[in-house]
Amino acid sequence: MSAKQTRNWLSDLTVEHVNALTPYESARRLFAGSGADAEQVWLNANESPFAGDYAVDSSVFNRYPDCQPDTVIKAYATYANLQASQTLVTRGADEGIELIVRAFCEAGKDSILICPPTYGMYAISAQTFNVGVHKSLLNNDFSLKIPDILSYVGKVKAVFICSPNNPTGTSVSQQDIVKVLDAFKDQAIVVVDEAYIEFDIAQTQTDLLDKYENLVILRTLSKAFALAGLRCGFTLASSEIIQTLLKVIAPYPIPAPVAQIASKALENQGLAKMRNDVAVLKDELISLSAALADIGDIQIIGDTNANFVLFRTQSKTELMAYLVKHKMLIRDQSKQINLQNCLRITIGNPAQNKTLLALIKAFFADGSQ
Ligand SMILES: *Cc1c(COP(=O)(O)O)cnc(C)c1O
Repeated sequence: MSAKQTRNWLSDLTVEHVNALTPYESARRLFAGSGADAEQVWLNANESPFAGDYAVDSSVFNRYPDCQPDTVIKAYATYANLQASQTLVTRGADEGIELIVRAFCEAGKDSILICPPTYGMYAISAQTFNVGVHKSLLNNDFSLKIPDILSYVGKVKAVFICSPNNPTGTSVSQQDIVKVLDAFKDQAIVVVDEAYIEFDIAQTQTDLLDKYENLVILRTLSKAFALAGLRCGFTLASSEIIQTLLKVIAPYPIPAPVAQIASKALENQGLAKMRNDVAVLKDELISLSAALADIGDIQIIGDTNANFVLFRTQSKTELMAYLVKHKMLIRDQSKQINLQNCLRITIGNPAQNKTLLALIKAFFADGSQ
């Protein structure tokens, strides 16, 4: 049947660029319905293995929540060493990406610039709003191709830089970020996505916010803070940019239970738990990465500045199948530009990492491939 014949009233009614989209294949959706069970170990979505313990006060749930709950904003601003006026709380960092696209890019006309291989949501958010996506590939060492990026001045409204980058674990130098900020001054927003910054906190770019009016930094509670299920992220920028983003955010983006739990997570005890978790995960990452590097057909790719390890193997399809069979789920990154045959492992708890390493060793040792 031709595409024309399958068209019906609904696809005729649907906005043309939406018809062309397919729902996002999140790590979770990829394995949904594939016999997912309680014994499966999820090392595929860069989540933390260390869930916290929270209680909520339901006595306020009859009321609408504040758009920007004061306690959350103040707590995050303090944590990030910024002013409350430079801090916006959103439904995950993903909503921050979407707000930037909606506030600064005109549908059907404007474009963003992304630097692949990188996080998928920048392009998806743009496509959802019929905004163009230009690509400047990273260098072989996953640093920014500065001259190429600068050739897009005047052609894009926002540049997305992910540091530490998902899925390569590499950080972008402040020197390079400043070059981009200078070149796009008055021309485009430069977004630095710091979703994994707690794993490499010395490299945060927040100190540049006072000097560069076009800088936006994205943060989240989903990774180091072990609250992916909460859907809570932060956008850090000049108070003028924050005011602009407030024009396009929903009236009640942060549910009351989310605000309560986020405030708790940002208190001293919550911060101490997060920092302790990060220390454990970094140790695990270094030793897993070293152990994998010793395996013949495994080549470690990128760096270890986040909570995952990326590697290349000629047996990636067979290894994935073997791990799924043994209930260990990791993420295939081989469809990304320049990441042929690459798989990504999220660091789990010590027992999970040990099991995973033993399985990978067994796979290569007994020639299961
Ligand atoms: C996980 C992730 C996000 C999304 O964070 P949420 O707050 O869960 O929406 C944003 N950017 C990168 C690079 C990520 O890996």
